[in-house]
Amino acid sequence: MEASKKDIRALEKEELQHFFQQHKAPSFKGTQVYQWLWQKGVHNFDLMTNLSLDHRELLKQHFEIKHINIDQQQRSSDGTIKNAVQLHDKLVVESVLIPTSKRITACVSSQVGCSLDCVFCATAALKRMRNLNADEIYDQVVAMDQQSNYYFERPLSNIVFMGMGEPLMNYKNVLEAIDKITHPEGLGMSPKRITLSTSGIPKMIRKMADDQVKFGLAVSLHSARQEVREQIMPFATKFPLSELSEALTHWYEYTKKQITFEYVVWEGVNDQKEDIQALVKLCRQIPSKVNLIQYNAIDNSSMKQAPKEVIDAYIHALTQARIKVTYRRSRGEDIAAACGQLANKLEAQGKGAINI
Ligand code: SAH
Repeated sequence: MEASKKDIRALEKEELQHFFQQHKAPSFKGTQVYQWLWQKGVHNFDLMTNLSLDHRELLKQHFEIKHINIDQQQRSSDGTIKNAVQLHDKLVVESVLIPTSKRITACVSSQVGCSLDCVFCATAALKRMRNLNADEIYDQVVAMDQQSNYYFERPLSNIVFMGMGEPLMNYKNVLEAIDKITHPEGLGMSPKRITLSTSGIPKMIRKMADDQVKFGLAVSLHSARQEVREQIMPFATKFPLSELSEALTHWYEYTKKQITFEYVVWEGVNDQKEDIQALVKLCRQIPSKVNLIQYNAIDNSSMKQAPKEVIDAYIHALTQARIKVTYRRSRGEDIAAACGQLANKLEAQGKGAINI
């Protein structure tokens, strides 16, 4: 019997309503269960107190609730919290909660490992094991919202898909999760507070635009020169910059949303005048802003962030061209929670999980 139980969270609201009808119960019971699962984030049928004991029993006979567990937690001296998230099949991903005075941002994973091969990213060294389900993505957000309330007495304000994995290689589940995050019967968050970060998969960027998504788009560009980008993001041979910029133009035409380019400047990689000029040229073609990111060193890598003068030269050239540019300092470096450092290497200093 145990083996045949279905994960109740794989069911749509209509399917839950239908289930109750089939069992001679009113369909609104299905709506109530849906709300317990998605709005209130309950992981136990016995907590669904507006259901009769018989109905709870019925659910237990047919379903189980698969959910994530925060296995381990590490806190950075800057307040950042890194969570090791254990999935029902014992695989682990990481998610990071980043507090600032203005916002509290949850950085969410979309895959276990990653199939892309960016040479500067620690996650790239992990094999892609599988895509996360929509509920596994959603659960990370719920867990971090609870942490945010617990530690900082404020709800989450923003979500970024910048954790492990490439969200556009798990498009359906990521969109389904965002649907639940933004739906009034879910967390009811505004899509304007959500940013999806992609390494740049043209076909999927077009699809997102055609699907009229309402969240923001960030693209990990790192170079506007094809030959340089191929060196640091080898998959870019399959997805050349020419196609990427066409897809981004399509995105802007359909969504009227500016794109954020994420960009790290490395010594000896993209620190030349031509690199800066190429970026300015691309930003002139595509309505965009640039987020310069501090490089977070990873094991076995000889890459080094370029000196301040080069970063300043980028900032100067972009500003002159009236392109908005920000420089982002890393958060959570001391616990390997910063961009590109997520690799499931949890040290013993973890403080253990809070029970939420
Ligand atoms: N696959 C998605 C999301 C995950 S990476 C993407 O590529 O956008 C999130 C961000 O961290 C990306 O902008 C990525 O380029 C950046 N990043 C990866 N490794 C990094 C490192 N070592 N230092 C700084 N940023 C890094």
